[in-house]
Amino acid sequence: MKRRRFINITLGSGMAISLAPNLIFGQSTVLESSELLGKGSPTLYGNGFQLRKSAHDAFVKMQAAALKDGIKIHVVSSYRNYAHQKRIWERKYEANLANGLTPIESIYKIIEYSTIPGTSRHHWGTDIDIVDGRFLNTPNLLSEDNFNKDQPFYELKLWLDAHAKSFDFYIVYTNDPQRKGFKYEPWHFSYRPLSCEYLKQYQNLDIFKVIQGEDFKGANKLSDKVIQAYYKEHILDINPELLA
Ligand SMILES: [Zn+2]
Repeated sequence: MKRRRFINITLGSGMAISLAPNLIFGQSTVLESSELLGKGSPTLYGNGFQLRKSAHDAFVKMQAAALKDGIKIHVVSSYRNYAHQKRIWERKYEANLANGLTPIESIYKIIEYSTIPGTSRHHWGTDIDIVDGRFLNTPNLLSEDNFNKDQPFYELKLWLDAHAKSFDFYIVYTNDPQRKGFKYEPWHFSYRPLSCEYLKQYQNLDIFKVIQGEDFKGANKLSDKVIQAYYKEHILDINPELLA
């Protein structure tokens, strides 16, 4: 179901045209491919986090609404550039090798939760990892268990289940047992009006070039077959509401 809203403009001749509001107000949703890969310099907004303007505005509203209900939404991670994702990847890759894993085993372990540099939705400035700021001392903040019943972030989870969509924030990696790719991430939310568009644009890129043209550690271990499966399962097997 498409929910894109259009604004009707009547031209002098009486001819009417419809445009998406973001095109009218000059906030084109078309990104340079460098920005889709975390290699641009987007203008970002936020106090203690970084998001694109409309995602920021919606998030601040959601945060205020949650606070009225006693829940303190705290952003653990928001925009991340390519270099940052590369550092995360390489730190995990090296640590896994040091623990005796083979390169390919290391890669499979990393992609349970983390992305190959250049393929993170965090590159877009539309996605956030959030927890309840009342309980920041919780060990391993971003672990599924913390969001379960009787655990510190359960109230936040229930609140988000009930309200996040009304602010256009959607969970990306659902707990649907049929879903492949990244594991369930009850903390990761995406601002749908932008990220849906960006994912469509991302699908026009040559994923093999994106990954194989890079020099991060382990890149040469990523065969065409592994990349193909990663693309299908990790990038595209997400909450279907974000694919519309
Ligand atoms: Zn995330």
